[in-house]
Amino acid sequence: MSNKPKVLITGGAGFVGSHLCDRFLAEGFEVVAMDNLITGNIQNISHLFGREGFTYVKHDVTNYTFVEGELDYILHFASPASPIDYLKLPIQTLKVGALGTHKILGLAKEKKARVLIASTSEVYGDPLIHPQREDYWGNVNPIGLRGVYDEAKRFMESMTMAYHRVHGVETRIVRIFNTYGPRMRLDDGRVLPAFVGQALRGEGLSVFGDGSQTRSFCYVDDLVEGIYRLLLSDEIMPVNIGNPAEITILDFAKEIIALTGSSSEILYHPLPEDDPKVRQPDITRARAILGWEPKIDRHEGLKRTIEYFKKQVHGVPQV
Ligand code: NAD
Ligand code: UDP
Repeated sequence: MSNKPKVLITGGAGFVGSHLCDRFLAEGFEVVAMDNLITGNIQNISHLFGREGFTYVKHDVTNYTFVEGELDYILHFASPASPIDYLKLPIQTLKVGALGTHKILGLAKEKKARVLIASTSEVYGDPLIHPQREDYWGNVNPIGLRGVYDEAKRFMESMTMAYHRVHGVETRIVRIFNTYGPRMRLDDGRVLPAFVGQALRGEGLSVFGDGSQTRSFCYVDDLVEGIYRLLLSDEIMPVNIGNPAEITILDFAKEIIALTGSSSEILYHPLPEDDPKVRQPDITRARAILGWEPKIDRHEGLKRTIEYFKKQVHGVPQV
């Protein structure tokens, strides 16, 4: 028995989940990472094996989920997250958002644990309000290809609020905007690993559409800080966590070419169905409630991330 607070992190072997494992261990928590490795990578947490207070459980959270002993907190981050992953795994994505969230909320109720769920800017769909505030209800195509992710996350929020209202479970909801950093998969299809990989290999950068669509990229350490503060706050309603620095995808491609010193050209490909035209978080609530705002600008974050990807591209194993 330890008297450290104990946190379960689902999706703990994924990109964001593995950074959360690092942070909560550093803060003196006991950490149980749970993952079925459907899109994650055990390498992301291999440096934690054997570390006091760290346990890894291979488990699919769409099935009955249990953790021995007391549990104080749950961070529910299990879900395919990149568009090519959830387009390849539509049913698993719907199941983890719906059945998985149900299991996790049931576990939280049983253990009287506080649970924070990882929602997304995708609940706003292709937004008609810009920037996106938490009181915007969104513009989502429920039967489109991306709908499997968007609707799973919207259902997840709905289920979470129901468990809070009916059973009094202590819940927190973070709406995460595009996040990047070391431990993203080079082949996950998201724009940043795609562009950096292409630039480092000297291939053309695959800009979808005319590149006029916008995104706002947040470095992973800033996201983790926001999540940590939200978990320990009293805020029940959803909070956007993201970096408001907005850029068009075409300018982003040019920025990556410049930062990598690549001679790659830009190649234009068709725009995928329902690709949001704009995305930028309004972080007024995060600032007011959590005293949080991002600290790492895109230039610095990209430099760190490019260093990581250089080692991946050149085949050096990562910790
Ligand atoms: P990721 O794919 O790297 O991590 C997700 C992890 O969940 C993987 O390790 C995967 O194996 C695991 N997983 C999936 N289904 C599971 C299941 N049924 N049981 C157990 N484990 C399962 O993705 P990520 O970028 O780290 O995203 C983590 C969470 O944050 C996701 O819930 C995602 O929707 C959310 N999010 C991420 C971003 C972002 O920009 N990275 C933006 C918005 C929301
Ligand atoms: N995108 C692109 N080239 C790629 C991958 C993505 O131009 O190789 C675009 C995509 O169409 C979208 C933006 O980059 O407009 C961000 O895509 P990503 O898959 O990273 O995440 P999203 O924000 O769409 O969930």
